[in-house]
Amino acid sequence: MPKPAFPSLPTFDSVDDERLHRKQRLAASFRLFAKYGFDEGVAGHITARDPERSDHFWVNPFAMHFGQISVSDLLLVNHKGEVVEGERPVNEAAFVIHSQIHAARPDVVAAAHSHSLYGKAWSSLGKLLDPLTQDACSFYGDHALFDDYTGVVLDLEEGKRIAHAVGENKAAILRNHGLLTVGHSVDEAAWWFVAMERCCHAQLLAEAAGTPISIDTENAELTASQVGSHLAGWLSFQPLYEVIVREQPDLLD
Ligand SMILES: [Zn+2]
Repeated sequence: MPKPAFPSLPTFDSVDDERLHRKQRLAASFRLFAKYGFDEGVAGHITARDPERSDHFWVNPFAMHFGQISVSDLLLVNHKGEVVEGERPVNEAAFVIHSQIHAARPDVVAAAHSHSLYGKAWSSLGKLLDPLTQDACSFYGDHALFDDYTGVVLDLEEGKRIAHAVGENKAAILRNHGLLTVGHSVDEAAWWFVAMERCCHAQLLAEAAGTPISIDTENAELTASQVGSHLAGWLSFQPLYEVIVREQPDLLD
């Protein structure tokens, strides 16, 4: 019998195929964020760089619930913050933060940010996550703290400072605000967000119950190399994508 194929990163015959794929993953990510309760009014955004116009990105329309977003609702925004495809306005904070991250990190295809409950609770402590579990090791030595909260992010200079804080990491904790993750695919950025939110939840629970024991440095580094790669992040998203498309096929409209 032939050996079943292990899931592998997709390849594309055309830039149109690649764009559609990114938009489908983006719409699915919003549906998943809604399912997990990561929405908070009009806050939160996930972006996907356009595969052709690399200084443009796809993003959710302002004031549209994550749970109602389909592929055809996504906006294309240029480097000046102008909506060049789509009917609705863009969230100004989405442009200010994400444009600077996409500009600073050419390797980043997607970035995710929302005001999820455990992420924002953790963010108020002003400290990095500890390697308390195997899952938390995905972020070991690979996330940063932006500890300079000065109100809603509406200034490009602040977007630049957030991008600078993210640096080469896969994630940042924005103090008094929430979490931010990036990835080489939409799948990866969305997965790291889900995973990081759960790590914040887990550490809050553990610290409320007692004094948690951290994984030692050597094993935290080893585990990070095993569970924290771009491919591992992408792979972890695949079952979520299959479930959400089966549950809510209109997301592909
Ligand atoms: Zn925010």
